[in-house]
Amino acid sequence: MIEVEHLSVGYDADGTKQIALHDVSLTVPQGTVCAVIGPSGCGKSTLMKVVAGLIRKVQGTVRINGRPVNPQEMKIGFMPQNYGLLPWKTVGENIRLGCRIKGEDSEDFVARAKVLCRRLGIAGLEERLPHELSGGQQQRVGLARAFLLRPDILLMDEPFSALDAITREEMQEVFLDLWQEYHITTMLVTHYVEEALYLGQQIALMSSHPGSVQEIMENLLAGSAGERYKPEFFAMGQKLREKIREMGAQS
Ligand code: ADP
Repeated sequence: MIEVEHLSVGYDADGTKQIALHDVSLTVPQGTVCAVIGPSGCGKSTLMKVVAGLIRKVQGTVRINGRPVNPQEMKIGFMPQNYGLLPWKTVGENIRLGCRIKGEDSEDFVARAKVLCRRLGIAGLEERLPHELSGGQQQRVGLARAFLLRPDILLMDEPFSALDAITREEMQEVFLDLWQEYHITTMLVTHYVEEALYLGQQIALMSSHPGSVQEIMENLLAGSAGERYKPEFFAMGQKLREKIREMGAQS
């Protein structure tokens, strides 16, 4: 579970303090996905960095499974927009990187990495370097790495944004398929309304000036491929777009 309570974050920019997040509270229950959506600059990445323990000078609290966030003690999976692969390491080494850092690179992990690679359709590519893969394949490597670690929480910052529309939809399916087996508590930043609706059981709508959470919606349409092409899904997408537009007009 991720619990964010009354979180405020400021940056020192050009000698003045800029408030990036103001009084943000949000709970992601164990084994669920929360999609965070909002305009550029509303503090989504800042929120992720605080939850990841990368920004520590904050007001308010962030707890993971009841304990203050501490990346040394916890397993926090982080998947950035550019997949976060090390270009000089092979695909296989990249996949096992998270586990190696945590001292868990045993025989068992090698075997599990192989199973994940087969499942993600990247078996046989382990000796290649990331630049020898397509965007979709690199994304699969990033997912294999994230899920191999079996993290306490998974943070995904616009993970599918760099992909073309068809590959993006494919990757959303791949993510869901894995997630439905592992049920890792996940916070996913996206600027695609359909992605938020498809993946997030909870959708947090953020607005800017200062960055804050305006509304948290329960979303019963998440996680089912069948729902994705139904009129209800389309209608909900329109409603969400309207809310985001209204928030943009207010800020
Ligand atoms: P988002 O991910 O929603 O686009 P960010 O969290 O990246 O938003 O940024 C929120 C606000 O904080 C923006 O106004 C941005 O300019 C500012 N900001 C982000 N990072 C820094 C930084 N390192 N120094 C100063 N200001 C920053």
